[in-house]
Amino acid sequence: MAHPVSVTLDVEDLRPSPDLPERAVVMTHRVLDLFAEFDIRASVYVVADLAERRPELVRRAAAEGHEVGLHGHAHVPLPVVGEALFAEVTRSARSLLQDLSGQPVDGYRAPMMSLVPASSWAVPILADLGFSYSSSTLPAPSPLYGWPGLPRRAFRWSAGLVELPCPLVRVPLLDLPYLGGTYLRLLPDAVRRHGQRRAGPDEVLWTYCHPWEFDPDEPYHPHDHIGTIASRIAWLRRTHMERRVRRLLAEPVAAPLGERVGAIAASDLPVVDHLQPPALGRVARLTNGRLRSG
Ligand SMILES: [Zn+2]
Repeated sequence: MAHPVSVTLDVEDLRPSPDLPERAVVMTHRVLDLFAEFDIRASVYVVADLAERRPELVRRAAAEGHEVGLHGHAHVPLPVVGEALFAEVTRSARSLLQDLSGQPVDGYRAPMMSLVPASSWAVPILADLGFSYSSSTLPAPSPLYGWPGLPRRAFRWSAGLVELPCPLVRVPLLDLPYLGGTYLRLLPDAVRRHGQRRAGPDEVLWTYCHPWEFDPDEPYHPHDHIGTIASRIAWLRRTHMERRVRRLLAEPVAAPLGERVGAIAASDLPVVDHLQPPALGRVARLTNGRLRSG
């Protein structure tokens, strides 16, 4: 049986210059239209600097029954934000989203899954700020941000909050975050279905996508923080995205992540200490973070 997935959307504005058209707004509305058409509720993680400029995006997501979560004060990876700034900017970002949405903001998604051993200082800060869960880790080697060795199922940080790691499927030699937007665009649907069938009964499956992935009309521009290869990949096969997501939404969809976390008994989860990250194996040391430029 294929396990249902929760749907999540990371709302961000990745334009390298404010002089370029602000396509994030129209594309976010378009994806919310799609969710409404299928009558599904998603977890919508919003970058606070975009929410501040375009509060109507947060208000609409909340009014339509979606969970609103935080995708960073700005779209900057955690190791670049740094520990000194993180608590202050994240506190005010959460409070902005709470004011706009009228909901408690319980969920945090690090930009680019950048919760890694070098940024594990963020875990107790997120717990102190009142987040009840994070879905910010990729528990495998990744050319950008990965934390190999973490559990692949939901776990609890010893600092308190629950972590829902990005779901992976094993294909020969590789663990792929097969429900992520890039993989939805690039891989055949059969890979997604294979992963959903192989998932264990206690895995919390979630897909993530971005409004820009639905936008084939946006001209290519490189992103300094991910390098040329990853920037190019972000522009591939965008014309496929809506069709792929429509197929996924036509199947049974699970509740937003905040509700699923609320239904898990904390005592059933393994506990991980953020200060004792698992040691990386040889392959992970060679491949992890290779495409990062910052
Ligand atoms: Zn993002």
